[in-house]
Formats: sequence, C-alpha cells, structure tokens
Amino acid sequence: MRIGVLGGGQLGRMLALAGIPLGLRFLFGDPAMEAPARLLADQLVGEYDDENLHHQLAERVDLVTYEFENVPVSALYHLAEHRPVFPTPHALRLMQDRFKEKRLCARLGIPVPPFRKVDVSADLEAGAAEFGLPLMLKTRYAGYDGRGQRRLEGVGGLSRAFTELGGRLLLVEPLVPFTREISLIAARARGGAFVAYPLVENHHEDGMLRWSRPLAVTDAAAWQATAEDHARRIMEHLDYVGVLTIEYFQTEHGIFVNEIAPRVHNSGHWTIEGAATSQFENHLRAGLGWPLGDPSPRGASLMVNLIGEAPSVPGLLAIPGAHVHLYGKEGRPRRKVGHVTLVSDTAAELGAHTMRLADTLGVPLPAPSAVLDPGRSPAAHT
Ligand code: AMP
Repeated sequence: MRIGVLGGGQLGRMLALAGIPLGLRFLFGDPAMEAPARLLADQLVGEYDDENLHHQLAERVDLVTYEFENVPVSALYHLAEHRPVFPTPHALRLMQDRFKEKRLCARLGIPVPPFRKVDVSADLEAGAAEFGLPLMLKTRYAGYDGRGQRRLEGVGGLSRAFTELGGRLLLVEPLVPFTREISLIAARARGGAFVAYPLVENHHEDGMLRWSRPLAVTDAAAWQATAEDHARRIMEHLDYVGVLTIEYFQTEHGIFVNEIAPRVHNSGHWTIEGAATSQFENHLRAGLGWPLGDPSPRGASLMVNLIGEAPSVPGLLAIPGAHVHLYGKEGRPRRKVGHVTLVSDTAAELGAHTMRLADTLGVPLPAPSAVLDPGRSPAAHT
C-alpha cells in the first residue's frame, strides 16, 4: 500500500513515521524542495494545483490524504476521480471556510460564538453594533497560527482593519472571554468506527500553540462526552473518514467551537508517546478501513512546541521522559521547528520534569501544582 500525501510538512513526516512500521509506503506532493517529509519517502515537487503532479501521484499511490488545509480543493476533487481521498474533498471545502464551518456547527446545534460575514465595511460596523467591542476580524480562508486576523478594540480601527485584510472574504466575531482553550481529536474509520482522545488543554502565545496537555478525567469529565458527541455528529453528517480536530473556547457558559481542522493536529502530537495509539497511526488506520487503535493515555504528558530555533538535543534528552522531535526545518522567528513531549507515570514526576524543561527552553510552562493527575478510561466505541 502506498499513501499519497498532499503536503510534506511536519504533519506529513509524522504520518510517515507512524505508517512505515505498518508496512505502508508514502509519496508526498509539495512545492518545497526541502519539505520535512522528504527524508522518509519520495516526493513530487510541484504546486498543489499542478495537474501533472496530480496525475503522477494518482498513478503511483493507492490512497490519498492531505496534511495541509490550504491545498486547493479542486486538486482533491481531481485526485478523487482516480483514487480514494480521505477526508473527502467535500469536508475540506467546508472546513477551509471559517464561515461555512461555523454555520455547519450552528445547524447541527453545536455551540459556536456569534459570527457574521463581512463582505463590505458596513458589515463590520453592524458586527460592532451587534456584538460590541472588542471584536475579532478574521479571514474566512487560509488563516493559521493567528495570521489573517485582527483584534479590534475601538470603532476608530474598524475601517483600517477592513482595509488591511480587505480584498479577502472575512468574518467577524466577539472576543471570547475564555477561561482556557481545549481541543478534541477524534478518528472515524470507513464503516463508522469512532475513537476520541482525551480533551487537551492548549496554550497559545502570539496566536501560536505553545503547549498542550491532555486533561485528566476529573478535569475534563464535564466536557468530554459533549465534545465527543459534537465530533460524532459532524463526522456522521459528512460521512467523514480520518482524524478530525475540534478547537474550543471554554467559558463560564460552556464550550464553544472556535475552529475545526480536517486533519491531524499540533494539539495531538502528545499522542505519539503519550497515548496507546497516535493520532497519526489512527488517521492512517481510519483511511485504510483498518481497526482503530486505543486512544487511552499512557501516563501524564505535556507537549511543548519548539518555535524559532531548536535548542540542543542532548540538553533536552537529559530531562527524564523527554521525547524530542525536530522537523528538519531551518530556524526562523515564529516557525515551529519541532516539539518535545514529556511523559511520566505520575503527575508529580511530570511536574518536576516540566520545571526542568521550562528552564532549558526559557519559556513559562504550566506550574507543577497545576499539572493534573493522569488517567482516564479510553473513549473507544467501535
Ligand atoms: P484561530 O486562528 O481562530 O485558531 O485563532 C488563533 C488563536 O487566537 C486562538 O487559539 C485564540 O487564542 C485566539 N482567538 C481567535 N479567535 C478569538 C476570539 N473570538 N476570542 C478570543 N480569542 C480568539
């Protein structure tokens, strides 16, 4: 079996790292000559909308997936004429557009913060009148890691923000006073088998994910079943195959969907060493129609992104329970170049190792006292 993957970034690389031991081979399509997945498999270098690349990929693989949300959906429809594509091009088309994604949630009765399309600058003023300030103005398409969004504090800034982001389709929503951000990663296989990982708490800095940690059953219990129900409803509605990620704002009034990603996700990297089966392996198993793997955590874990420059590997490996992943990318400000996952048997141990990691990286990490007890029963429903 050879899997074709559009996008050869770190997510593609980790898909290959999960699939190769299962006897799978990979072929990546990516415009960058030095894509991170390249060391692990052959790569076709070409633009995502290059029909020649589609033909070559379709000829050489059995199944196609993608690791990058902003591939042109037309490329996937084109590929789907020749090979099965998962998640379906239809799911990607919907989730590329923040507006359609939120509208789907609203239609399925899944809570989302209020939102409004912004086509002309008067729509933004209407949004300010309806939701009050501050507001978040976001591009509907192609935003990631906090790019393509503006926080609006006063009416004076509205028209400037509209002009700065203008020319693109936009939406506006209120600034949500969340107590924390959490996400759910679930997988649905061909035939409908479903598994979900424990909810994860995510901490962003400057719009970028800094760290993620799976929540203990005691902490997440109130929302785990709700979030799993949301994932199940979205996936069944779309006859979805593969891993899906739902990002939430948790507030005093409940959890609200911020964004849905039709792919493996940074907030699931902890599953590589921290869960019985990783999100990457479950994505592949789902697409192949193979039995899904156990999503249970193996202990207490914390995943921290390495942003900008990668620190020395031996320094990180001196921390017990540290698993280091470098993506083979050149260092650059605001660029994710790798991640570290700490896995420990107990929360107390994880707390001690977290302090060492915070010292080594020079970034604040969740205080040991806030690190929660591990352990929850698996949420597998096959
Ligand atoms: P997004 O690209 O929508 O995932 O946004 C990136 C990050 O910006 C989120 O994870 C939040 O930390 C923050 N953010 C986005 N939208 C809002 C909002 N409406 N209210 C508060 N914070 C937000």
